Amino acid sequence: MKITILGCGGSFGSPLAWNRHGNIDLNNKRNFRTRSSILVEEQNNCILIDTSPDLRQQLYDAKCTNIDAVLYTHEHSDHTSGLPDMRAMSLINQKIIPAYMPEEMILKMETFYKYIFKGEKDYLPFMKIKKIEDSFSFQGTNIETFKHNHGSIDVQTYKFGKFAYSTDLKKFYNNDINKLKNLDLWIVGLLREDPHPAHAGFDQVMEFVNYIKPKKTVFTHMTALLDENLLKEKCPNNVIPGYDGMIIDL
Ligand SMILES: [Zn+2]
Ligand SMILES: [Zn+2]
Repeated sequence: MKITILGCGGSFGSPLAWNRHGNIDLNNKRNFRTRSSILVEEQNNCILIDTSPDLRQQLYDAKCTNIDAVLYTHEHSDHTSGLPDMRAMSLINQKIIPAYMPEEMILKMETFYKYIFKGEKDYLPFMKIKKIEDSFSFQGTNIETFKHNHGSIDVQTYKFGKFAYSTDLKKFYNNDINKLKNLDLWIVGLLREDPHPAHAGFDQVMEFVNYIKPKKTVFTHMTALLDENLLKEKCPNNVIPGYDGMIIDL
């Protein structure tokens, strides 16, 4: 399995704007982060998790010209609003691409992006909506998913064997955290150091890490308040901040 971090920034990206660079060292390219999304390549499938507003450039930079399926974590626009850029992937490969999402997203996505899923006037549909199950398979790739809390809404954690992706995480429900034991890799959202109403802070994320003990943990969804090297100094060697373009082979 090959995992590419296309983007690891929070909803504003990092830096926030010109001359608004929080705590980051501008001389370190890894502190420049586009909005969060990843590619998972396994068994000839190329699966994209979330369509960030930076999708076109992310796919270009990753030299990616084919997406077999999209999985959505949740409806927030930093995870969905690049969806129209999927039109190029459909055109190049002459196929209608499935978009897997939780039930509560379906009506909103269908309504907001009608031309994409249903077609409109001269536009033919180029994607189709699929509802996720707790455990499902896409062309031989097995995927498990469950909901975690993100403040006022829920987000899907996705798990592919010993790899799991949990962005925009505030807390887990019931004993769901136990589903993440024995991971080789956990990519987890860390917005900033202090807790946010919808995101766990550094101490809480490290509590999760220390409980499930993944072999390797990589942070994503970081604001410009988190500098790569300063964050590294606070973490054990197997817990590291991600960066745009990072590739992990499992
Ligand atoms: Zn987000
Ligand atoms: Zn969110």
